[in-house]
Amino acid sequence: MRLGAHMSIAGGVENAVLSGQRVGCEAIAMFTKNNNQWKAKKLTQDDADRFNAALVETNIRPVVAHTSYLINLGSPDAALWKKSIAAMGDELARCELLGIPYLVLHPGSHMGKGVDWGIKRVAAAFDRIHAERPGLRVMTLLEHTAGQGNHLGHLFEELAQVRELIAEKQRIGVCVDSCHLFAAGYDLRKPETYAAVFQRCDDIVGIEHIKAWHLNDSKTDLGSRVDRHAHIGKGKLGRAAFKNIMNDPRWRDLPGVLETPKGPEMKEDKVNLRVLRSLIEA
Ligand SMILES: [Zn+2]
Ligand SMILES: [Zn+2]
Repeated sequence: MRLGAHMSIAGGVENAVLSGQRVGCEAIAMFTKNNNQWKAKKLTQDDADRFNAALVETNIRPVVAHTSYLINLGSPDAALWKKSIAAMGDELARCELLGIPYLVLHPGSHMGKGVDWGIKRVAAAFDRIHAERPGLRVMTLLEHTAGQGNHLGHLFEELAQVRELIAEKQRIGVCVDSCHLFAAGYDLRKPETYAAVFQRCDDIVGIEHIKAWHLNDSKTDLGSRVDRHAHIGKGKLGRAAFKNIMNDPRWRDLPGVLETPKGPEMKEDKVNLRVLRSLIEA
């Protein structure tokens, strides 16, 4: 796996790459804008040039972007839904300009309208986004979720159904998160249960559609449906689960990025990356 962590773009998008290099990342995750605001300063070709120069210099690849938390493509509110569609289109365009291959999105919340309704709503949003932004290279990755509240996507079936309903489904992949999988009830700790989870994932979603991993331990129990990230080996998943993930040849070329809490010195990232690398068997 190409290991790394989520990095801040404060001071310029290229800073995410340079910070990643400082802690020993081979891949990074980042937002391309402030994740709690709808509006964003336009990116320029100059930003893209500096970003790509930093990638070449550091050999970091791939970059996995993550959307703003405000976007809800499952929203029953017409105004919010349209605003989300416009914002998602804009985020895809930002990634395209920067040459980022993947943009991770939480599928959305149906806000009480029901799972089937929500799945159709999200798929309809993507058909609009794809029609408005034809021919982009960047792929959206639907993130498997912990299943809190009315959030869609904690069952493999839901991710598969959203993807299946989208006309241009070749533009849609999947991102899995170890913490979310566990919170959703998929046990990654024993080799047997781990194997069963990804057999099921392959049968329902297709393993080839998984393009990125978020590597987080979980503060909450199996099936809790509560999303609380813990440092690697310090949560309920423990080192055994990450040993299973790190030594699975199916993920060999995929980015695996941390989304765990850290201070300004990013020492926690260094420790977590060291733990992950120590679990790889020769
Ligand atoms: Zn995640
Ligand atoms: Zn999470």
